[in-house]
Amino acid sequence: MRVVLIGAPGAGKGTQGVELAKRLGVAYLATGDVLRDHVERGTDLGRRVAEYLDRGELVPDDVVVDVVCDHLAPLADDGGYVLDGFPRTVAQAQAAEELLPGGLADVVVYLDLPDDVARERLDQRDDGRSDDDEDTIDHRLEVFHAETEPLVGFYEDRGQLRRVDADQPPTAVLAAIEAVLS
Ligand code: AMP
Repeated sequence: MRVVLIGAPGAGKGTQGVELAKRLGVAYLATGDVLRDHVERGTDLGRRVAEYLDRGELVPDDVVVDVVCDHLAPLADDGGYVLDGFPRTVAQAQAAEELLPGGLADVVVYLDLPDDVARERLDQRDDGRSDDDEDTIDHRLEVFHAETEPLVGFYEDRGQLRRVDADQPPTAVLAAIEAVLS
């Protein structure tokens, strides 16, 4: 089972993704975590992407696609994955389709959340992320609408999209995700 989670920052992709992967018995991969880990370790890649993360901008497509596809190919052979944070653009989705022999996803779950709720949740998040200050949050939401939201139509046209109302308590969101997957 290969599941892709898309949604605005704050929609719960991380919370739901970790739990869903456990239940499905597959790997969980968050591109934001992978990139932040490179930044912390000071790798070449980390140095190239640090400024984008700090500003709440997307890292260039070619950089992310290479990193993600390297991680995904072995996982796809090993039962699947829950993917959080990729693709973030239609170009990334198209590139991944071409690079991965069996395609990227069986199902794409869209965690749908109004901006004002997303903003409130991110304001309250206290894991110390450098991109969780108020201005950067606003910018990440703008980037989501401009760059990532077009994926909703892209996957809808392909018959792969399942929409879930993310403005509910976490256990209810998880139940809704499991319902659309079954
Ligand atoms: P996240 O943890 O998913 O909110 O991602 C944090 C940051 O990592 C984003 O604001 C981007 O700078 C970068 N990032 C994560 N995934 C991607 C992606 N698929 N494409 C481009 N940038 C990404």
